Amino acid sequence: MQTYLNTINGKAVGSDKTFQSINPATGEAIGLVPISSKEQVAEAVAAARAAQPAWAARPDGERKALMMKVAEVINKNSAYLAEWVTREQGKPLGGVGPDQVPGARFEVWGCEAWTQVPASLDLPVEVAFEDETRRDEVHRKPFGVIGAIAPWNWPLLIAIWQIIPSIRAGNTVVIKPSEYTSIGTLELVRLINEVLPAGVVNTVSGAGEVGSWLVSDPRLDKLMFTGSARTGVKVAEAAAKNVIPVTLELGGNDAAIMLPDADPKAMAMGLFWGAFINMGQTCAAAKRLYVPESLYDATVQALKELAQAMPMGDGMKDGTVMGPIQNKMQYDKVVDLVESAKTEGGTIVCGGAPAGGPGYFYPLTLVTGLKDGNRLVDEEQFGPVLPIIKYRDVEEAIASANRLNVGLGASVWSADTAKAAAVAGRIQAGTVWINQHGMIHPMVPFGGAKGSGYGVEFGVDGLKAVTRPQVISIKK
Ligand code: NAD
Repeated sequence: MQTYLNTINGKAVGSDKTFQSINPATGEAIGLVPISSKEQVAEAVAAARAAQPAWAARPDGERKALMMKVAEVINKNSAYLAEWVTREQGKPLGGVGPDQVPGARFEVWGCEAWTQVPASLDLPVEVAFEDETRRDEVHRKPFGVIGAIAPWNWPLLIAIWQIIPSIRAGNTVVIKPSEYTSIGTLELVRLINEVLPAGVVNTVSGAGEVGSWLVSDPRLDKLMFTGSARTGVKVAEAAAKNVIPVTLELGGNDAAIMLPDADPKAMAMGLFWGAFINMGQTCAAAKRLYVPESLYDATVQALKELAQAMPMGDGMKDGTVMGPIQNKMQYDKVVDLVESAKTEGGTIVCGGAPAGGPGYFYPLTLVTGLKDGNRLVDEEQFGPVLPIIKYRDVEEAIASANRLNVGLGASVWSADTAKAAAVAGRIQAGTVWINQHGMIHPMVPFGGAKGSGYGVEFGVDGLKAVTRPQVISIKK
């Protein structure tokens, strides 16, 4: 079985120890991943450190041009990378572009878009103050070396979100992918190293211990972490010890609220994908749906028809729309939450029992009859299960949306967008979508409120987040 290698200082690096990467649709091993040693993690940080001054000193236009080459490399290798996403993460190949089933080809297309957009953005010098006595300019400087830790749900796209703005701004990067989905990311970084100078983007691989060595390295200047709240706290502690900033993109439990004037049939497809994108394994997926009594039965029926019509299976096969859950840990969590929903008075509308192996398949599941306080409503399921909760008045729905200590995304669904916007403004979340859910965009800042983390990614704000301001104050 092939071992896929890390890239450190532009060179392929293996390790004495490896682990198997598993295809979640078949349960089969598909490749070996090195477990980086502590020395290799230190070596990767040293390589990034050594490469950073020259990278930052390059004329901005050169860095931009190299980044457009990175986008070309991704495009040229898109079929190869998409196959790795499907075989390792599970999401079906699907189509390309924003209007298609959001599968692996969509993920790789997103990597290209999220490379081209930051490549085209600038952070011009701002004049904070000027009068006849002084001129104060704000310049944007790279932090230096960024340590990045990625999760398993969108393994390539989230790695790109961490890598690309960082290097655009003149930082260098060491990234550790999730142990569940390492190969695609290692291959992506190997490929983009064909056009980048050695040491600008480096990888290390392994599980939490390797991640902890990386984030506690005192030579790092900033951390970027996407993953669970539990690990996020540890990463924030490591950042605090070295007095460096950290961007935390943590979990959520996004509420979607239908207002009484919404049309369940017209909105069903948007709601469906808002909840079940990537089998619900998406940080900003709709994870609890609040529906007024008057629309309840029609909404449940419309979503049930869609859920039952989506072919599930191995994503490498044509026509597959839904894949497996990515790993056993997540699969067990989904099973546990559905079982507890049954004991807490929930009614299973469809799905609700494991689909049987091989692979971690679980049917799309809708649950009615639950209320706030039930586990499936209060805990992030991060899987193909949606509780649909009845509400009486909109105030009650807003209070429900806000009652948990997370606030990544939310959505409001209505025929009247002004009315929806008034409700949206009262929801405590980083993004509130109207008549759509989870529709992120490379120009639009994205980040969480409350326990969902802090700092933003994407757009000009995301680029600023990987720089520090330096004031040049001139006496006239
Ligand atoms: P996780 O926290 O278990 O793992 C994330 C990464 O952290 C992995 O690479 C892991 O190896 C690493 N890690 C584990 N222990 C570490 C330590 N002590 N120090 C440093 N790194 C360590 O999360 P996961 O299960 O991979 O991801 C699922 C979670 O991520 C969900 O809660 C989801 O909502 C969240 N998520 C958030 C966003 C977002 O943008 N807000 C995006 C995707 C996923």
